[in-house]
Amino acid sequence: MRADLHVHSSASDGTDPPAEVMRRAAQAGLDVVALTDHDTVAGHAEARQALAGSVLAGSGDHSLALLPGMELSCRLDGRSLHLLAYLFDPGQPELAAELSRIRGDRVLRARAMVDRLAGLGVDISWEQVAAIAGPAVVGRPHIARAMAASGAVASPRAAFTRDWIADGGRAYIGRYALDPVRAIGLVRAAGGVTVLAHPRAGGEGGRGGGWVVSDEQIAGLAAAGLAGLEVFHPDQSGTERAGLLALAHDLALVATAGSDDHGSLTGHRIGAETVGAEAYRALLARVPSAP
Ligand SMILES: [Zn+2]
Ligand SMILES: [Zn+2]
Repeated sequence: MRADLHVHSSASDGTDPPAEVMRRAAQAGLDVVALTDHDTVAGHAEARQALAGSVLAGSGDHSLALLPGMELSCRLDGRSLHLLAYLFDPGQPELAAELSRIRGDRVLRARAMVDRLAGLGVDISWEQVAAIAGPAVVGRPHIARAMAASGAVASPRAAFTRDWIADGGRAYIGRYALDPVRAIGLVRAAGGVTVLAHPRAGGEGGRGGGWVVSDEQIAGLAAAGLAGLEVFHPDQSGTERAGLLALAHDLALVATAGSDDHGSLTGHRIGAETVGAEAYRALLARVPSAP
């Protein structure tokens, strides 16, 4: 059994629509794929529909199952931190209100970053960024794509430096994010489980400016009810994985895996990191409502 527990679609900053993500997951031979868009579950309906079409599910000798999830924007000690959440009720009022606040602030922040970029001579407009994002939850990758289209940077990835929109960069603006201890509680109250995403990846491709979540901070989150640690992630080295695996063992956290596929933005890599049946069952066993 292979489960990729961290994948994005165009419902947030991935480049492929949810149905296409499901098609690629099936093609990669996955048994389970978690759709974990940033701060939204808007892609789940389309993903479910694609699977229900039975073109993907049940074909051949295995079927693909969707694990509904989300990647929650949090902030700890002034730094950005991502929490993967699974199997929660998105309609739980307190959680839904926080998600709506996060998404609203993402728009205000993106508009402010476009203004700041204009001041730095980058000729992009909010309308261009909004057109690229479409109905998706707007994020820095959409701004990066507008910057690349305007010729300000060679590629969207090149926008994620201190010169531009990386954390602490000249055009970077912070935004509302949840305290992770509160987020863990909110997701648990909504019947779900949480996993700390890429704790040693330096905030995805260096976006975090080299900052990583410390062992002490992870222990604090474990005490607050965190269920797992994303050990296997493309941006974490063998040494980092070994350290995280030992920490997961010490703190009785489930060691999980995720490709963090964003379509062509990260290079299509769905299924590049997967967990087997044992870790998957261990994670599901942490669901508060589990028997
Ligand atoms: Zn992330
Ligand atoms: Zn992600």
